[in-house]
Amino acid sequence: MGNAMGTDIYTLGADIGSAASKCVILKNGAEMAASTVESAGAGTGGPARAFEGVLAKAGLRREDIAMITATGYGRNSFAEADLVISELSAHAIGAAAFFPGVRTVIDIGGQDAKVLRLTEAGVLDNFVMNDKCAAGTGRFLEVMARILELDVTQLGDMDGKAEQSAGISSTCTVFAESEVISQLAKGTPIPEIVRGIHESAAVRTASLVRRMNLVLPAAVTGGVAQNRGMIRALGQELGCELMISPDSQLCGAYGAALHAYRKAGQ
Ligand code: ADP
Repeated sequence: MGNAMGTDIYTLGADIGSAASKCVILKNGAEMAASTVESAGAGTGGPARAFEGVLAKAGLRREDIAMITATGYGRNSFAEADLVISELSAHAIGAAAFFPGVRTVIDIGGQDAKVLRLTEAGVLDNFVMNDKCAAGTGRFLEVMARILELDVTQLGDMDGKAEQSAGISSTCTVFAESEVISQLAKGTPIPEIVRGIHESAAVRTASLVRRMNLVLPAAVTGGVAQNRGMIRALGQELGCELMISPDSQLCGAYGAALHAYRKAGQ
């Protein structure tokens, strides 16, 4: 679908998070022309790199973009934006497009976790969030990975190698850290400790989900959705299937780009 002149409309969504900067360029509000993820968030060089990078990947210039919508923690400091929307709005729009019919969206980012309820029509109806504590967020997993001398991207595979769980009983980051250190000292295999860490994070995230009635189908978005161990543990804790997408971390940026497309057409 193009405009009346038969030319394509490109819009850009920028999700400037606490841990990572994500950009998506949409062609005619449907096709993802290019995307970038920079593992550096608000207040760093990450937003500019993600922005320049996505234009370069798509082979476009700033003036080729009809509208830019920014979202995320650092959205108000992203000078390239024409429009700004909340993370909740962006994730609701993105998740409805990624997972048609989804009713519950669990967004696990670098520094917070949010649970969104969508109506059958895909409109944001209610939400709860944890932005006060690292437990059950990407930050918790990053702290634990560092103690184990692993990168967060290795946690999913490591969990898959476990035959049992080390059973990390605390959900608090500081106390769980002590438990992990004592498991290491005891010689517990790393995969078992990793599984215990995921179960601890899942207990915390599930308690946030239960603050609203869990309406299915449910999906997980945000960078942490790429961690298969965490998804398995959370699904087990909630007793349901959770949908994920390989582009889960781009959900907010995709929603922002779709918002920009809708506004560009007005
Ligand atoms: P924010 O929007 O708050 O910046 P994101 O949704 O971009 O957060 O998610 C960032 C988090 O995702 C980081 O904490 C990082 O540890 C985690 N993450 C990113 N990629 C992966 C991956 N491949 N495997 C596991 N965790 C990941």
